[in-house]
Parts: sequence; C-alpha cells; structure tokens
Amino acid sequence: MEEGALLEPLSVGVHACKRAEVTLGSKVLILGAGPIGLVTLMAAQAMGASEILITDLVQQRLDVAKELGATHTLLLKREQTAEETAVLVQKTMGCQPDKSIDCCGAESSARLAIFATRSGGIVVVVGMGAAEVKLPLINALAREVDIRGVFRYCNDYAAALAFVASGKVNVKRLVTHHFDIKDTAKAFETSRKGLGGAIKVMIHVQPRDTNNPRKF
Ligand code: NAD
Repeated sequence: MEEGALLEPLSVGVHACKRAEVTLGSKVLILGAGPIGLVTLMAAQAMGASEILITDLVQQRLDVAKELGATHTLLLKREQTAEETAVLVQKTMGCQPDKSIDCCGAESSARLAIFATRSGGIVVVVGMGAAEVKLPLINALAREVDIRGVFRYCNDYAAALAFVASGKVNVKRLVTHHFDIKDTAKAFETSRKGLGGAIKVMIHVQPRDTNNPRKF
C-alpha cells in the first residue's frame, strides 16, 4: 500500500524525465534532493541515464541521493553565482549535462539549470517558486537550450507502476516516518520541518501493514 501511495510522486519524476527526453546514456543534472528530486533521480536511472549529478544545499539530502545511486553529488553554497556553479557541475561530471531538471523552485536553481546545460540540451522546470523569476533567456536561446515546464503528470502512472513492480525502482527508502491517522498534525509537522531526516511521511488510516500481503 505504501509503494502504491508513492506512485503519485514517482509519476512526477517519470513525467519530468519524459519531458526532458531522458534516454539510454543521458547525462542528467538534477537540482534539489528533496522528495521530488529523489523520485526524478530514480526515474532517470530507470530510463537509462548513465550519469546523474544531483545538487542541494543540505549534505544529508545528498547522502541519501548517493545511497540511491546518484553518480555525483554537489553541495551548493548560497553565495555562489549560477555561472560559477555551472563550471563546477561541468568539472564534476567531466562534461556538461544534456538534460537539467530543476526540482527546487528557487530562482538561482533555474538559472543554474540554464547555464549548466550543454548547447542544444533541455531544461525542465518542476520546482514551483515565485510567479515571476529572472532567467538568462538570451543565453538559453543563443545556445538553443529548450526550457520546458511540468505540471504533475499525464499518463505516467503505468510506467511508474511498472518500474516499482519490476524492482527497477525501490521507493521504500523514501518512506522515513509512519503515523497513525490520529497523529496527523504531528505527521505534517515532521514533513514540513524535515524532522529526523524526513523524506516521505506516511499517515495510516488503518493500523500499519493490515493491507499489505507482505510486510512493508
Ligand atoms: P522540498 O522543499 O522538500 O525539496 C527541495 C530541495 O531543494 C531541498 O532539499 C532544498 O534543500 C533544496 N534547495 C532549495 N534551494 C536550493 C537551491 N537554490 N539549490 C539547490 N538546492 C536547493 O520540496 P519537494 O517536495 O522535493 O518539491 C520540490 C519542488 O517541486 C517544490 O517547489 C514543489 O512545489 C515542486 N513540485 C512541482 C510539481 C509540478 O507538478 N510542477 C509537483 C510536485 C512538486
């Protein structure tokens, strides 16, 4: 049942990777190692990406991404400019990524996605932040970097289900906390503040595992 619930966020990752045209051998930059960054990482792996660099401002989140199989991680500092960080991305990967997927919602992150992507590549923006942001549009158009949006998913559940059912994607690691429905307020607080390394927090309407043929 828990894996079933996680098909929802995983479908966002699948959709983002489809929009980015991730395929065998893709070199992918994922910005943000929160739950959405991590499901995008899993989907990119399942779709054949050969190298995936994931960035975040928090080392603990990058450690989870590494454990899940990211080939490179990069801890960002707030004072770095997007142009400076793009150089670090290239140094770490040994090339520029051909797809960049922003899963943060920060202006600096969308800027980095554009500067870092190789000419002719694709930037997909999943993160939703301010309604208006400043982007290096001329840099993107002069290098023919496509900028694409994502709004959740469309016809992506089947692929997400197949990835989980086949064992290609293991979403279980994302579930860090379990709460009974009567402790819902505590569950939301844990998720909102990321307490105890929270990634995905489950609220159970029935006692845990009652519906699982095999224990979670
Ligand atoms: P989250 O806040 O848990 O994760 C965001 C991560 O990005 C955090 O780990 C944070 O440390 C990191 N971060 C923040 N600023 C950064 C920066 N400048 N550079 C690098 N890392 C940075 O959120 P989440 O649940 O993973 O969701 C991510 C984003 O995706 C949110 O903006 C959310 O609204 C959006 N979202 C969009 C869709 C859609 O359909 N477009 C669907 C789901 C979520």
